Amino acid sequence: MPKTDYIRETHHEFLDASADALANQGLQQILGRLGDSLGKKNREAWEQLPNSDLVRERARTIKDETLAELDKHLETLERSVLARGGKVYFADDGEEACRQVIDIIQAKGAKKVVKSKSMTTEEIHLNHALEVLGIETVETDLGEYIIQLAGHRPSHIVGPALHLSAKEVAEILSMPAGETLPVEREVLAGFARKQLRMNFAQADVGISGVNFAVAETGTIVLISNEGNARLTTALPKTHIAIMGMEKVIPKLADLPYFLKVLARAATGQKLSVYTSLITGARHEGELDGAEEFHLIILDNGRSKILGSPLRESLFCIRCGACLNACPIYRSVGGHAYGGVYAGPIGAVLTPLYDGLAANKHLPHASSLCGACQAACPVKIQIPEMLIQLREQMHHEPALKSPLESLAYRMWAITLRRPWMYRLGSWLASRTLGWWKQNDRWLKRLPGKLHGWTQKRDFPAPAPTRFRDWWDKEGKQS
Ligand code: SF4
Repeated sequence: MPKTDYIRETHHEFLDASADALANQGLQQILGRLGDSLGKKNREAWEQLPNSDLVRERARTIKDETLAELDKHLETLERSVLARGGKVYFADDGEEACRQVIDIIQAKGAKKVVKSKSMTTEEIHLNHALEVLGIETVETDLGEYIIQLAGHRPSHIVGPALHLSAKEVAEILSMPAGETLPVEREVLAGFARKQLRMNFAQADVGISGVNFAVAETGTIVLISNEGNARLTTALPKTHIAIMGMEKVIPKLADLPYFLKVLARAATGQKLSVYTSLITGARHEGELDGAEEFHLIILDNGRSKILGSPLRESLFCIRCGACLNACPIYRSVGGHAYGGVYAGPIGAVLTPLYDGLAANKHLPHASSLCGACQAACPVKIQIPEMLIQLREQMHHEPALKSPLESLAYRMWAITLRRPWMYRLGSWLASRTLGWWKQNDRWLKRLPGKLHGWTQKRDFPAPAPTRFRDWWDKEGKQS
């Protein structure tokens, strides 16, 4: 199974991708509007929810308590699904989960699959695994459908095609249309709807993610604004749902807390347009639903995270609010991060799921300003986790930058020897002035330090060092 073939292997690739994103005017305009659109709606939605802080706290506590007994809740979920005639599979990693999906599809002799939006299937690269075997796979969320046609990765957890302008969308949809479609939203949406309806009718299998899975009833909950999740799960004869193991919640009574916070944090809505509760396959007397229901529960590193200091990352309900709030995401967009999950939570999840070695740029892709934590509906301490990942890198010799290690060693040696510190500050005060732009700022620092002044100024050294001033005048005054 291919790992993330687009992972940024080096810090430089991330910096290059960020520089490209910053130079892309179209993308900058789209990202510039993000704070005023989704970000503003998120903030307004919280203001309109009475006791919103208590609701968020409760949702966080449910996650915390559920993870403390995750094995018990997963067993209950399995029993409940089996009791309703469904089948349950546990997958250790993405490869096993893809294999399980493929086995089900091949046992049915299915050739065509429709999918509703699911970050978990993106995480395991399911589409690629199916396409390799010639199984036609059609994304049915409008944004996902567009980026599937374009061959892009999602750039935002809830708005996968957020990086594209209406003109670009029209160009992409014109390909299957076989004619130039006008840049009119109604026309474009109408064309996509017609195409997708046809696929729903033809598909043998529908694949969905899972927003929440209720252990006591075996119900999976799907939340969407387009209704495609309903058609994906109801029209094809077989429904396969794939969930990360952390998506389980114990009781149906826990669900309203998450419905309240998810819609508000994701899109600023009180409630998403469609909330589907699916409990097993279609039973006698029921009017719709698949004839077979399969639930795949994915680990893919989550059980290791459960016992680690980064456990809180499993609280994430994939709302995307931290992306909308993050100044880095709002500057460089989702693709620069290099993984399936972008933004602040992506900077935590991607190193955890795909390895820190291949993603060592991500824990540093943050200013640690805390806007993500403030926006998060379940109050995940993202900055804290990014610092912990940075710390982990310092305990792994292979992940350390030799230059950075040398710089810190030199700094420690200097700080332990006052004469060296005095000499260093004397040299700096005499030489840094050569790069002065004016009395207050340096235009460009020398050598490797130039990275700092590429994007911002550096304060110019004072004409007199503090220790010289103190010796001459400070002591007397
Ligand atoms: S970390 Fe919080 S804000 Fe970010 S996607 Fe997850 S739940 Fe939403």
